[in-house]
Amino acid sequence: MLQCNCSILGDSDAGEAIVVDPGDDVARILAVLQKHKLRLSQIIITHAHIDHVGAASALRRATGAPIFLNQKDLALLSMMDWQAEFLGVPTPEIEAPDADAAKGLIVAAGNWRGEVLETPGHSQGSICLYFAPKSLLLAGDTLFAGGIGRTDLPGGDSGQIMRSIEGTLMQLPDSTIVVPGHGPETTIGEEREFNPFLVS
Ligand SMILES: [Zn+2]
Repeated sequence: MLQCNCSILGDSDAGEAIVVDPGDDVARILAVLQKHKLRLSQIIITHAHIDHVGAASALRRATGAPIFLNQKDLALLSMMDWQAEFLGVPTPEIEAPDADAAKGLIVAAGNWRGEVLETPGHSQGSICLYFAPKSLLLAGDTLFAGGIGRTDLPGGDSGQIMRSIEGTLMQLPDSTIVVPGHGPETTIGEEREFNPFLVS
C-alpha cells in the first residue's frame, strides 16, 4: 500500500541473495529467489516501520534466513499495533530480529558486500547499506530523490536526519547510485546539487 521498495541482491554464481526491506508480498519475493535459484542468506531491515518490516518474519519462516535490524529501532518494532492502527491495516506477524544491524556490520551474499551506515533521524535505528564496489547505496527512508524522510513520527528528529545526511551520506562519491525506500533512484551527486533540503 505504501509502495515500499524491496531490494533483492543476488549472485547467481554463488547462488546466494540478500533481501532488504520485505514490507509485504512474501510470495513475490520467494518467486524471484526461486526463479534465479538463490538461497536467501540475510534479511536486512533499514528501519522498523511497518511498510519495511511487515513480511520479515514470514520470509524468515519460509527461508530460515536471519533478520538484521538496528537495536535502536526495537522500541519502534514493539509499536507495530500502533503503526498498523495508524495506517488502518491489520497488524503483521512480527518477531524479534536475530541480530543487530549495527554500524560497520558487513552484509554479504556472493559478490555483494556492503556495510551498514547508521543514519538516525527518520527513526532512531535507521540505517543505510553501502556497497562500495558497486557504487550503490540503499538509503531506506533517510534520503529520497528530491526529498528526505519524514521526522514527525515517533523516534523522528529533524536535526538528526540532516546530520546523518550531511555527515555520512554526502561523504560518499557523487557517482553513488541511491535506491531509496520509496520512489525512483537517484545519485549522491544529483541530490547534492538539486535536493531542496540540501541546497542552501
Ligand atoms: Zn519509514
